[in-house]
Amino acid sequence: MIIIMERDATAENIKAVTDLLNEHEFRVIVHEGDVHTVIDALGDKTTLSPNRIDAMDGVMKIKFIREPFRLASRDRKSDDTVIEFSNGVKVGGANRPVFMVGPCSVEEDYDGLLEVATAAKELGCQFLRGGAFKPRTSPYDFDGLGEKALKYLAQAREATGLLVVTELMDVEDLDLVCDYADVIQVGARNMQNFRLLKAVGKCNKPVVLKRGPASTIREFLLAAEHILYNGNEQVILCERGLKSFDNAFTRNLMDIAAVPVIKKLSHLPIIVDPSHGTGQRYLIEPMAKAGLVVGADGVMVEVHHNPATALSDGKQSLSIPQFREVFTKLNKMIDTLHLERSMAIPNVE
Ligand code: PEP
Ligand code: MN
Repeated sequence: MIIIMERDATAENIKAVTDLLNEHEFRVIVHEGDVHTVIDALGDKTTLSPNRIDAMDGVMKIKFIREPFRLASRDRKSDDTVIEFSNGVKVGGANRPVFMVGPCSVEEDYDGLLEVATAAKELGCQFLRGGAFKPRTSPYDFDGLGEKALKYLAQAREATGLLVVTELMDVEDLDLVCDYADVIQVGARNMQNFRLLKAVGKCNKPVVLKRGPASTIREFLLAAEHILYNGNEQVILCERGLKSFDNAFTRNLMDIAAVPVIKKLSHLPIIVDPSHGTGQRYLIEPMAKAGLVVGADGVMVEVHHNPATALSDGKQSLSIPQFREVFTKLNKMIDTLHLERSMAIPNVE
């Protein structure tokens, strides 16, 4: 890190900083400028928090050379992380983009869920998504069937062979969700629920971590870092749109640039969710295409057997025939662009 001292920092202020750095075995070089003294410090920030230095008298600001997400960073691991499932499905790296498809919420009508799952499987999708525990803005809205939904998902997996992705909202339900799910989803609203991140970090299931609606890319990667730090390296990031000032035509502002930015900064796979990213059915196809073109490792799409009756997010869900059409186009696009990851990842130099 580089510590820039205030113009009126005293010799004592500078000495106090360098003494502390030396105490923690940092390599310290002091550059005395005409106006500011700049201290170049190389060492292990886990033994001395930069916040402690920042709080010292005479310190103006600190600049970091390396990003704080060490484990998630390309600096630590230059090759892409590939998450591999027991049935051979792989997410990330040079593998073909995957599809996570299903209703926002799992509802009472199991046949409807099975219809979606069967169509998804026939098309070549790999994952069935569906909420059992739903984060809802209003307490009056449908908030999921809980374990019954998990059982439905497991039943649909049995019938189709699709892998199950479902959201965990509470540490209390971790074992229950792990019993049924192949992938645990941490929802956008819980991206910075650090106890939840720690809990999923300690289990050995892959995690889909959705970007918080008002989170920076750095915060997003630091949230992933919590999971990695606690021992779970199987993290799939998901860009699902941000709150913006203009929600007249879209629910969220889908940050497409986040995909190549994250590819540059991190080795973790990243997928896009144009359903939540836009809130509009007709925008799923163009935004999924955009995500794939810039290198996404997969797409999450809400598909309902009858979106008009969906208990949540019907407006941003495709019907089965609509999904069939969209999927076919996306698949063709993946083929014709030869969208193998090795071509899509920008140079990380
Ligand atoms: C979902 O996937 O159904 C969901 C609630 O997503 P998000 O956390 O991105 O809002
Ligand atoms: Mn939803």
